[in-house]
Parts: sequence; structure tokens; C-alpha cells
Amino acid sequence: MHQLPLDSVTADLLRHTLNSLKSHIAVLDQGGTILFTNQAWRAFALKNDLSPDSCGAGTNYLQACQDALGEEARAAVHGIRAVISGAEPDFYLEYPCHSPTDQRWFSMRVTRFEINGSIGIVVAHDNITQRKQSEIALQVAKDRLEVLSHTDELTGVANRRSFGATLDTEWKRHQRASLPLSLALIDADFFKKFNDSCGHVQGDECLRSLAQAIQRGIRRPGDLAARYGGEEFGVILPNTPQTGARQVAENIREQVGDLGIVHPSSPISAHVTISIGVATVVPTRSGSANDLINLADKALYQAKSLGRNQTSFGDSE
Ligand code: GH3
Ligand code: MG
Ligand code: MG
Repeated sequence: MHQLPLDSVTADLLRHTLNSLKSHIAVLDQGGTILFTNQAWRAFALKNDLSPDSCGAGTNYLQACQDALGEEARAAVHGIRAVISGAEPDFYLEYPCHSPTDQRWFSMRVTRFEINGSIGIVVAHDNITQRKQSEIALQVAKDRLEVLSHTDELTGVANRRSFGATLDTEWKRHQRASLPLSLALIDADFFKKFNDSCGHVQGDECLRSLAQAIQRGIRRPGDLAARYGGEEFGVILPNTPQTGARQVAENIREQVGDLGIVHPSSPISAHVTISIGVATVVPTRSGSANDLINLADKALYQAKSLGRNQTSFGDSE
């Protein structure tokens, strides 16, 4: 690049200005050779044991990026080249640059200028760690909120909202594929009496144990156990005919039996029991997910009226 006809006061002013900036700045010629570095650039290199041969004045920055490993280094080479050639007016990249002790992120902004027919390239790196950490914390909080919005607070299984959304989705999917969809509605027997004898706190504890037992009773990754209401749970069993649903219902009742939670005032058992209503349908265009719920609910009512602690079945496919 041509020497600029700057008077020494202006040159000093510019140097001091660049040295006062927190950004790590280097000016390159159009071949990628470093012509100038500001104080922040040099201080960072010194503090991070970067060799002056890789990032000091006179060395080739493009080459240094090329020698570095990783996706970001490749993107930087590509971006700097595009700015040098004029294909892009500028280039911006955010990249991790962790030290052995700290997690750090930097941004790199590359811009160009032209003087007397020569091209100059300005590379500015900024520490964006604080923003990145806030973004990561925000994402973690959002993910957690997303999980919470689908989770029943007391039992940790899916909540009713999640149950409804999943059932609607599965209904449509099974309708398209003409596959059997099963639903089991599960209700704790004489739970009011349990609360009355053991207290609400133990009632809550019992509901948590029931939720875990139900979860253990389902096997396939696509199955969903949810808390449907107070002491009622719903289990969605995709692509499951009535025989499969029967097996799952029996698994669940067995798991609840194994809990052996004493029910001091149950008229039918010494322990907490559940009743289950199962329905299986191949969804049709004219029907809706509510039909499946109604069928399972009717079956549950039947299980209750037949004496509880058993499974009944609604119309099958
Ligand atoms: P059934 O065998 O006919 O189902 O009798 P039940 O007593 O279980 O049924 P009912 O619907 O009469 O009473 C349900 C009871 O469940 C009412 C309430 O005491 C209890 N219950 C509902 N939600 C909760 C809860 O979140 N915690 C506790 N501890 N109890 C709950
Ligand atoms: Mg109930
Ligand atoms: Mg009940």
C-alpha cells in the first residue's frame, strides 16, 4: 500500500485513537499481510502466548488462519478472501476461543477501504463472552421452561396439555397410516378415602409413586404417560392393537401392585389399586381424538362398576 501523506500530528492522533479501542485491530494489505496492529491486538497476542510470527506486523494473517484448524478458521479464510476481492463488502463471524481456564467467545469483523487504488483490509476482533453467556443462559432457561410447560408439577410425567397435543398429533398420524391407536385411562381406586385416612401429603406422595409405576409399565419410546386430572392418568399407545394395549395395562397394574402402598380404608384391597379403561381405534376422517377419550372413559367407568382393580375395554378396532 502507498505511504499516505499524513502529517505527524494526524498520524499520532490516528495511532492513539486505534490504540485506545478495546477491539483487537489489524490492518492487512490485499495479500493478507499485516501492516498495522493496535495495542489491544498486541496485548492479546502477548497474553495468550501467540507467536509474533503468526499475528505480528509483517506476517500473513490469511496464512495464519489457513494454518489454524477448525470450521471457523476455514470460514474466516473464505470471508477475508471475499472482502479482499470485493465480492462481499464485509464479513462477520462469531467463534469460540476458549482458554484452558476460561470459556471465551469472540467476534471477527472484516471490512475494506481503498486509498489511491490500493486496498486495505481491517480485521477487528471483539470479546463477546458476556453476551454469549447471557444467550446461553437464556437458551437454558427457555429449554427448561419448554420442559416445564409440558410437565406435571406434582408427578413429573407429561401434563394434560401435552397429553392433548400428543393425542391430536397421533390421531392424525394414525388416520393417515390407518394404524390402531390405543388409549388407557387410569384412575386410582377410592383415592378420596386414601386422602382421608393418610392425609393429603401422603396422597400426593402416592400419586408420584403411581406416576412412576405407570411410567415403568410402558416400554416403547413413542408411548406417553400423562397426568390427566387429579388422580387420573392417561397413557397413549401409538401403533398398538387391543392385545398390545391389554398387555401394557396389565404391566401397569402389576407395577402398581408391586408398590404395595397400604390403603387403610379401601373396601377392596389392603393396598392402593387402580382401574383402567382401554380403547383402541383405527382413526377415521369423520372421528376425532375425543371419540377415543370417550371410549376409554366408558371402559374405565365399566371397570369401576365391575368392582375396580381391573381393566375394561371399549370398542376395539
Ligand atoms: P373411585 O374409586 O370411584 O375413583 O373413588 P375416588 O375416591 O378415587 O374418586 P373421587 O373422584 O370421588 O375422588 C378423587 C379424589 O382424588 C378426590 C381428591 O381427594 C383426590 N385427589 C385429586 N387430586 C389430588 C391431588 O393432587 N393430591 C391428592 N392428595 N389428592 C388428590
Ligand atoms: Mg377420578
Ligand atoms: Mg379415583
